[in-house]
Formats: sequence, C-alpha cells, structure tokens
Amino acid sequence: MNTKELDKKYVLQTYGRGDIEFVSGDNATLTDTEGKKYIDFTSGIGVVSVGHANARVNAALCEQIGKITHTSNLYNIAPQAKAAEAIVNASGYDMACFFGNSGAEANEGAIKIARKHGERDGEIKRYKIITLKHSFHGRTITTVKATGQEAMHNYFGPFPDGFVYADDIQAIEALLDDHTAAVMIELIQGEGGVEPQDKEEVKALEKLLKSKHIPLIVDEVQTGGYRTGEFTASQVYGITPEIITLAKGVGGGVPVGIVMTSLKSVLSPGDHGSTFGGNYLSSTAVCSVVEILNELKVSGELENTSTYFNTKLDKFYETNKKLFTQKVGIGMMCGLRVKDADTLASIMSNAKDNGVMVLRAGRNTLRFLPPLTITKEEIDEGFKALATAISSL
Ligand SMILES: *Cc1c(COP(=O)(O)O)cnc(C)c1O
Repeated sequence: MNTKELDKKYVLQTYGRGDIEFVSGDNATLTDTEGKKYIDFTSGIGVVSVGHANARVNAALCEQIGKITHTSNLYNIAPQAKAAEAIVNASGYDMACFFGNSGAEANEGAIKIARKHGERDGEIKRYKIITLKHSFHGRTITTVKATGQEAMHNYFGPFPDGFVYADDIQAIEALLDDHTAAVMIELIQGEGGVEPQDKEEVKALEKLLKSKHIPLIVDEVQTGGYRTGEFTASQVYGITPEIITLAKGVGGGVPVGIVMTSLKSVLSPGDHGSTFGGNYLSSTAVCSVVEILNELKVSGELENTSTYFNTKLDKFYETNKKLFTQKVGIGMMCGLRVKDADTLASIMSNAKDNGVMVLRAGRNTLRFLPPLTITKEEIDEGFKALATAISSL
C-alpha cells in the first residue's frame, strides 16, 4: 500500500489531507515523491522557523542523540535550563519557563497558573478566563473551550466551566468581575484569520488589568519566536504580560510547548508536570533554534528578509486588487483577504499545482508564514509561481 492508502486504512481521518507527500526539504524548498519542488510559504504552519533540514539544528540534535535524549524531569537537565535562559533573555521579560510538548499544553499550563493564582489572591476564588470570540487556543477539552469560536464547541462536552468570550478587546472591561482569573488573547489571531489587535487598545487593556491585579495571558504559540520581528509579539506591542505561551516556531519542528511567566512562585512541586516536556532532545532543538534566530535578529538579516518578503507581497497585492481586498499582518505573519471563499480555494489549489505552498486562515484569508531563513531567491520564486497560479482567475 502507498502512504495515502495506509493513512486511509490505519490513521484516524481527522485531517483533510491533499495528495501531496513531501520526502525532503532544504530551507524553504520542499521536494515531493515525484521529485517536484515547491516553495514553502507555510513553514508547516509556522513551525519550521529556521527552515527545513537546518544543518546547525541537525548537528546539535545528532550530537545530543549520541549522548542522551531522555531522563524524566526528576533530574537536572542541562539543555532545558539553557533553553529557559535563552528564551527568557531573548524576551527581555523577568520570567521563568515550564516545558511541555504543544501549544495546547502550554495554554493548559497558563490556565492552571492563572487559576491557582486566582485561588491564592484574595478571598473570592477567581476562576473565569476571558478570551476573544475569534480566538484559537488549541484542541484539548479545556483549550477547545477557551477557543471562542462557537463552531469548535460542538460535541465533546461537558466542558470545564469558567470561559467567557468577549467580542473584541474593548468588550473585555465590561466582562471583568470578582471571579476573573485572567484574560487570554492572541495579539495577532492566527487561525482566526491573521487579525492583528490594535496597539493602543492592547496597551489600555494591559493597564486596566494591572490596576485590577488580573494576569494577562498572551498566547504566542504562533506569534512567538521572532515571527513578528521581536522574540515575542508582546515586545512588538510594548506590553509586559504576566504569562506568555510559546510553541510552534521555537522548536523548529521538534514538538515543544512553553509557558513563561513572571508569576514564578504560583506553582509548587507536584502542581504541574510533563513526562516528555523539556527533555534533552526538544530542549536542544530550542537552544539551537533560538541561537540561530538571535543571530539573524542581531545581524539585521531578519529585518531584511521581512522587508523583502513584504515588499513582494505588497506588490502582489497591488497588482491583483481584483482578487484581494486587504493586506494584513505584522512581520512574517501576513495575509491577503480574498474577495470570496471560492476564489481562495482556487488560489490554494493553483498555487500547489504551480509549486508554492500557502495557507488558509479564517474564512477568506490567504496566509503566509514563510521560514524566517527564507532566501531572496526562494521568495522571488514563490511569488513568480503565485503570479502564474492566479493568472487564470
Ligand atoms: C497552533 C496554535 C495553538 C495550538 O497549538 P498545538 O501545538 O496544535 O496544540 C494554540 N494557540 C495558537 C495561537 C495557535 O496558533
């Protein structure tokens, strides 16, 4: 049986997979089973931030695999401690980290910290978490309920109690009460449709929450790891949240989920844990990825790549206004609003046929999350393929 047949027979069919099967990658270029090459403007949904088959990450991983990969969290783990130091330093926040394995798990950890903090903080138990209507926070029972999109709340109940949804940032204030444990937001909603929040509104929210001693959780699972120009989008927005979650881009393809918080003493031994989280393998990946991205940031190369990509995208948008209504995003998390969902579906399919991979977000957004190491040549090639892809539309 070929992969498609094996998948159909033995894998639960939870994804609408296409027919493509990639066998290798090199930076932002992918090769499929037929030997056909594709430019990857997706990074595997914002994960492969330093490109496919990054030689430095691979060398670090191979060296680590030769020594030790896992011991459990009952012992000291050098790469985990170093990864935490690298992440805290890159962010500039006075925080400490907990290591899990996915974005959803990081958000679960954030919610646990907020709830325990709410329990200790004053007489009334604070348990409510306010999130936004178009948010996406994960697929576990709790994070699916934290996700504000109603369509995600079909089946699977009863859900944990205490999630409250605000239409937008400005609507949060009216929902705060004595039971509010935290507010959790994405600064740029990813799955919701590349939807950046307004900077001044976010700053006003931060000020309001600080005055009420309510922690702000920023879900940076998609925005973290220099995707928006700084290590966290919180830095881009000029805010200091109490809790930040990271995952996708900081492991470069090795599963990792991280909660970082300035509420360092809320959790005590036994309150939270993970068998795999922060083991030698995943932490080594984090150390290597963050080191590479730090260098790109300091050298100015990250900024150059982002400027080049955005200049190309602007031009693509300007010359195709019959298909697109708006360009959105920050840094290398960007999108184009497509005039309707059918046109978006045609663009996605034509793009694939012409050798460039792009993403959908929300109902009508063509989303771009290229590797942060993508070269000018790869960017040129990708936009050339996109131009051909839409020429018949
Ligand atoms: C992808 C994503 C998640 C879920 O991450 P998983 O690793 O799939 O659990 C949560 N929040 C945001 C903002 C995301 O983009």
